[in-house]
Amino acid sequence: MGKKIKRVRFELDPMGIQTLSDSEIKIILRGADDLIMSGGRAMLAKILTGSKDKRLLEHGLDQSPVYGAFKGTSQKDVLAKVDWLILHDYLAIEYDYRIPLLVFTDKGWAIERETYSDELFTKLLDAAEKRQYEFVETLKDRDRGMIFRLLDKIADSGNKDLIVILKAWQMIDYKKVKARIQKVIEVLEQATDDTNRTLEQETISFTAHKKWLSIPAETRKKLERNVWCTNCGDVVQIEKYTVKEVKYGIVLHGTCKTCGHEVARVIE
Ligand SMILES: [Zn+2]
Repeated sequence: MGKKIKRVRFELDPMGIQTLSDSEIKIILRGADDLIMSGGRAMLAKILTGSKDKRLLEHGLDQSPVYGAFKGTSQKDVLAKVDWLILHDYLAIEYDYRIPLLVFTDKGWAIERETYSDELFTKLLDAAEKRQYEFVETLKDRDRGMIFRLLDKIADSGNKDLIVILKAWQMIDYKKVKARIQKVIEVLEQATDDTNRTLEQETISFTAHKKWLSIPAETRKKLERNVWCTNCGDVVQIEKYTVKEVKYGIVLHGTCKTCGHEVARVIE
């Protein structure tokens, strides 16, 4: 029979808290991120209240973006919030030998993954701007799901200024991440083209509008009321129309005010 381990006991006490706001939950989970399997509830409460605890400072935990986020609230009250998160399945406790340590549950991690990938996205933008490409070293060996969320956010941004730093990142990371980065680079290159195309289209329709508006208002009204509708078999009024430039002038595309059928009118 083995020796019995004397585990450090703890008791959860949410002190009657009914609910916490989404932002409070996010803050507490962000604080927990630097403590996963290395710290417990009390240390988390110390980070959040901005404590000058020696061990906290030694471990650089005052560098957490949420250090002191609950300054002015007592550690006891913050601990109650932490306990509420544990009781509501955002965080859990696991023992490392005899010490109870914080871990994320799937539910908590799903939230923290978003917060953390947002944070990394901001840092990446900053590093790209300052050409601090060595920043990419800090992206290696991170949780894969979180890194893929970060890559999704980069792709969604359509920011082509990030292509260079992505290429630097691609050089140092593992095969699967490399492949994902390549896809994001392609998306960004494509996004650039689309932006140009939209701009071109806007410029074209702008010239067409200028031509249309150079026609006296009275004449424009007459033209609007003098459109042939194939469905009505009659001259009708056009509505909800767009103006486009064609070879010999402009064309109005819209709908018939009487029946809603598509109609068009060329103006030379
Ligand atoms: Zn009609």
